[in-house]
Amino acid sequence: MGREHHARLPRPRARFRGATGAALFALLLLALAAVPAGAGADGASGDGLLGDGSRGNGFRSDSFRKEAARAVRAHERARARVDRLRESDASPTEVKDAERRRKAVRAGLWDLLWATGRNSGDPVAVDPSGQDSRCPFGDRSRPPERRAHPWTAPTRRYWLSAGYAAKGSRWAHRHTGQDFAVDSGTPVYAVGAGTVRATTCGDGFGNQVVVRHRDGYFTQYAHLSRIDVRKGGRVTAGQRIGLSGSTGNVTGPHLHFEVRITPYVGSAVPPLPWLRRKDVEVTGAPALP
Ligand SMILES: [Zn+2]
Repeated sequence: MGREHHARLPRPRARFRGATGAALFALLLLALAAVPAGAGADGASGDGLLGDGSRGNGFRSDSFRKEAARAVRAHERARARVDRLRESDASPTEVKDAERRRKAVRAGLWDLLWATGRNSGDPVAVDPSGQDSRCPFGDRSRPPERRAHPWTAPTRRYWLSAGYAAKGSRWAHRHTGQDFAVDSGTPVYAVGAGTVRATTCGDGFGNQVVVRHRDGYFTQYAHLSRIDVRKGGRVTAGQRIGLSGSTGNVTGPHLHFEVRITPYVGSAVPPLPWLRRKDVEVTGAPALP
């Protein structure tokens, strides 16, 4: 599952609409064809792709967005199928086959989004190593909080503002994450153990952290005022990774939280059901303003 460095594809030189893009589309379609129809109906249904901060030119294409959204849904159906098979008395071969199909879908989506991200300047795809010294890094010495549960909510004392797939003038298409309204300076926690895949700043997501978890999913924490982790570092569930803020394209302080299949914009799944599957209940509005 280690796809941290993309070695399979050459760096696309042309814009996404060129030959490289066409080849990637074919790749994605092949991956989709490998997933049997009716593989499961309880997967994700979200179609949000553009985040608060996306500025990618590739994402302006409606057909691209629909293709990627279809792949995200196909992946979630494939993932649900693997989960079901594991819970039932399915044979190891059956589980292995289902898992192979899930990974094929993810690989196709990954390639597609990576190429688009590079062309459009998405800092997570471009890999900002060496450039992130501009980011406001804070204290790294603080020990992680001890937690009995392996998964936790990304912040405390929030109220839920814009939800996943919400429509609004702030987003070019649909909202790709869940917003947690909190004051600036509120601690933001890694929802589970993992490795910091990226710390970037300066685009529409402002100061952001992307964490890769052991189950293969990624979580994104955006609009931070300060970042307390570094790329490549390990984090534990509930470890503070930064402070909330209002950097990037926002109308007020909040935490933008996403769960993604890949590190890149365009692969987000509904975050609250994902947390719920890990026994993390994110509810209501404890402190309406
Ligand atoms: Zn948001």
